[in-house]
Amino acid sequence: MTRTIAVIEGDDASPEAMRPCVELIDGLGLDISWTYPPVGPTAREQHGSLFPDRAREMIDSADTTYFGSTSGGATQALFYLRWGKQTYANVRPARYFPGARSPLAEPEGIDFVIVRENLEDMYLGIEGDLADLAPLGLVSRTSRRAVADLGEGRYAMKAITREGSERVVRFSFELARKRAASLGRPGKVTCTSKYNMLPESDGYFRDIAREIANEYDDVAFETFIVDDFACRLVTQPHHFDVVVMPNLYGDILSDAAAGLIGGLGLAASGCYGDDYAYFESAHGTAPDIAGQNSINPTATLLSGCMMLDHLGFAAESARIERAIAEIYAEGKTLTPDQGGSASTSAFCDAVRGRL
Ligand code: ATP
Repeated sequence: MTRTIAVIEGDDASPEAMRPCVELIDGLGLDISWTYPPVGPTAREQHGSLFPDRAREMIDSADTTYFGSTSGGATQALFYLRWGKQTYANVRPARYFPGARSPLAEPEGIDFVIVRENLEDMYLGIEGDLADLAPLGLVSRTSRRAVADLGEGRYAMKAITREGSERVVRFSFELARKRAASLGRPGKVTCTSKYNMLPESDGYFRDIAREIANEYDDVAFETFIVDDFACRLVTQPHHFDVVVMPNLYGDILSDAAAGLIGGLGLAASGCYGDDYAYFESAHGTAPDIAGQNSINPTATLLSGCMMLDHLGFAAESARIERAIAEIYAEGKTLTPDQGGSASTSAFCDAVRGRL
């Protein structure tokens, strides 16, 4: 059965990583058909919109989307992939490849996954003038001051829902079970949030995680307050397996986790919902190195591996990962962020050569 992948190449340096990765995956000879939804300024010229109906239809009819980071042009497409497709679990693996440039003395064996809730928390984008909240009569739990007395200022709303929390936590436990089966050791889920200061929202997230943990006797469960977790992430990264957290913490701490394994150039990511998933590196468009053919394509390629797994091509995904591991171990064809001088294309050629 032909699998269709919609490709959005993204902005700045993103296409420089996306194109050779698509080529590399295409070269595997799998039954994949690639489509290119029109998005961004070119789509506006041709179809009158940055995200025309045609693009939405192409995303809908594809089995998945391979997305290059955007600095604006494809934001509507990204929002559609996230909120339109309800891709609530953002999976960000942090696995160390020996040879990658980690700041740690002993990074060998780091292999955990951050599951970031992807749709709610602060990312509902509900912000405004504090004065608009004054009529609600809200009073600060800490300072005891009424919002009406705070003076001029702005607010941002953080929302944690039962449905949103349950599904991302359940997803995390299922992932821990799968990893336990494939790695041959017991699984563990760590839940982190600021549940001491924010008992009504982050505490709710933690309580829901605890409830769901009771359904999974075979998976260990623990919780840490997010500041404590941040310290443990750096000092004991080997301790973790699957870590689930609300959106904002996940956004920030997954970049920190990437730092441990060699930086954003290795930060893969996939966003999963019940009916759709899309794959995009965790890093941005790397505008400062655009046009140099030097962006590290590992994150994009590893996101492509997650995509292949999702499409049922697990063996091919494993082959690419093995090839990447070999390139890092050999250390001769690494990109500048890893201390090498290889170009993006040279890195991808080296991976292809290993395949
Ligand atoms: P955006 O606004 O798109 O998020 P940004 O510059 O704020 O862009 P990133 O694109 O994530 O954020 O880049 C942060 C830094 O990391 C930049 O110096 C960038 O060059 C570097 N970087 C990010 N991804 C890679 C990569 N794949 N290879 C090499 N360097 C990278």
